[in-house]
Amino acid sequence: MTIERQEFQAEVKQLLDLMVHSLYSDKDIFLRELISNASDALDKLRFEQLTTDVAGSDLHIRLEVNAEARTLAISDNGIGMTREEVIKNIGTIAKSGTKEFLTKLKDAPKVDGKVPPELIGQFGVGFYSAFMVADKITLVTRRAGTEAATRWESTGDGSYTLEETTRDHAGTTITLHLKPVDAEHGDRDYTQDFAIREIVKRYSDFVTYPIRMQRWKPGAKPEDPKVLEDETLNSQKAIWDRPKAEVTEEEYRDFYRHLSHDWNDPLRTIPVKMEGTLEAYALLYVPGKAPFDLYSPEMKRGVQLYVKRVFVMDECKELMPTYLRFIKGVVDAHDLSLNVSREILQKDRQIQVIRKQLVKKVLATLDEMKRDKPEDYLQFWAAFGPALKEGLLAFDQDKDKLLDLVITGSTHDASKLTSLDEYVGRMKEGQDAIYFLTGPSKEGLVKSPLLEAFAAKGYEVLLFSDPIDELWLERAPTFKDKPLKSIGRGEVELGTEDEKKQAAEALEGKQKEYSDLLGYFRVHLQNEIKEARLSSRLTSSPVCLVADEHDMTPRMQKMMEQLGQPVPKIKPILEINPQHPLIPKLQAVYAADKADPRLGMYAELLLGQAYLADSGQLPDPVAFSRVL
Ligand code: ADP
Ligand code: MG
Repeated sequence: MTIERQEFQAEVKQLLDLMVHSLYSDKDIFLRELISNASDALDKLRFEQLTTDVAGSDLHIRLEVNAEARTLAISDNGIGMTREEVIKNIGTIAKSGTKEFLTKLKDAPKVDGKVPPELIGQFGVGFYSAFMVADKITLVTRRAGTEAATRWESTGDGSYTLEETTRDHAGTTITLHLKPVDAEHGDRDYTQDFAIREIVKRYSDFVTYPIRMQRWKPGAKPEDPKVLEDETLNSQKAIWDRPKAEVTEEEYRDFYRHLSHDWNDPLRTIPVKMEGTLEAYALLYVPGKAPFDLYSPEMKRGVQLYVKRVFVMDECKELMPTYLRFIKGVVDAHDLSLNVSREILQKDRQIQVIRKQLVKKVLATLDEMKRDKPEDYLQFWAAFGPALKEGLLAFDQDKDKLLDLVITGSTHDASKLTSLDEYVGRMKEGQDAIYFLTGPSKEGLVKSPLLEAFAAKGYEVLLFSDPIDELWLERAPTFKDKPLKSIGRGEVELGTEDEKKQAAEALEGKQKEYSDLLGYFRVHLQNEIKEARLSSRLTSSPVCLVADEHDMTPRMQKMMEQLGQPVPKIKPILEINPQHPLIPKLQAVYAADKADPRLGMYAELLLGQAYLADSGQLPDPVAFSRVL
């Protein structure tokens, strides 16, 4: 039989490098990772057994230590892997975003030369974590339903070997050749039963398969010889269908870590019990931090589906809307059929009902957090606010509840985030809309000239600066019957009916006075603007840009372009402040000589100024710098 040597993928080499040099401060987790893989493999076998006739019974995980040889073996009689699968699953990392994550890890500030666990915990370290404790790993595996077995071996140095071998039955055995114990650095000896027992109890107690290890049991009488017997290390209790009062915070947290590979504590734990026409249990978690791939389509979604404690499916999309994809947890639906497929799930009435309940529960939990624990809610919002707002894009019955959860910047108090409800409570007498402004950054928004008239009148304006805001606000939402209205669009009319009328008359008078000058602007800038008009929204700035009532905002256009959508060039409206001292001066120049070449130059300068105030960017900086 031939032994073949292959190189790891570059990303794997990087990850191995991190592992071998033990940048992770808690080495014990390697066992959790390997047990979790074994448990996954057993799930997969059981799932395959629903539709095919692959053999396999007494599904379990076995741990075996050999103190003399200094080895620890983790075996399962699960699905196993073919040779190709070994190469693909163990030799490469398929997950997107891994590269960026590794760069982030490499550049991250270290504590005593080690990567802080909360950072590495964002990323499932998986199989490779075993190289923290082993200087050589041998893996023997046989895919269920096939005859040949594969032996894989590596010292974590960038390459591995593959060899054909035999194995009694399907499954995988991973043998770790343990590094010498470095007691000085607090290393534990993983060949000691009690160390293994404790780690299993801590991290893997709820694994649904028995985790067995042999132990010497004293005979019945002192003179009897000791006998070797199997001991099951985990209780296998499904934490989600135990009464809440019987589960400790610590158990909930450990289960979260087992489920999410997140080293941090969850922000909230949500046990759910549904009884009546349908029986289901769920245990959901709101994580404290966003995973690095929250906006990647390949992100691992958080909810697992069980049927009466039997694992059925990972990443069950049907149970949680996309905008809540970061929620982790398990759902155990007692009345569902075990061999339910994704296609069936999509149409299943029970699943719809369960999903509705879960969403309701999650949103209620968030609402409560927002009211009772504002600091927690700020942390949540910083991590998941933009994802949650995706829910506002769908015409969903939960939209109102989602709007209740939105918090954003405001001119009321620039140092805080405010909710729509708080805004409505502060609305002026006669104010009939919730005013907002969108822009690329909060810093830019605060300085926008578009805010001037609102500031002068004492009207509060909400400031939105996430890219997603542009999209959902475009759909003209209303909150408590009040429309959300962009102040960067159309005309503004503030105040009582009388005030509005007076303002309109005053503006009309000015409009007549300056009509020739405005006409000049319109003609001179005809390729750049749709219209030049006097403004009722400025008090101190000379000019600003606004969008026509039904046009896309400049930022919306940019986003569509980035998405590769064809967008017709939509020209903005240039608004000029009739109260600005510059305007009568321009009028004087114009009155003296309509052909004065300085007029064109001023027109372009003012347009450039308006662009700078709007987005901090000029459409054509080179041309602008040549104006003078
Ligand atoms: P993850 O579990 O997040 O996918 P790992 O690094 O832990 O990442 O494992 C990589 C892959 O190797 C798994 O997805 C699985 O396909 C395969 N694998 C690991 N251990 C086993 C095992 N005991 N049995 C079968 N496949 C396994
Ligand atoms: Mg894994």
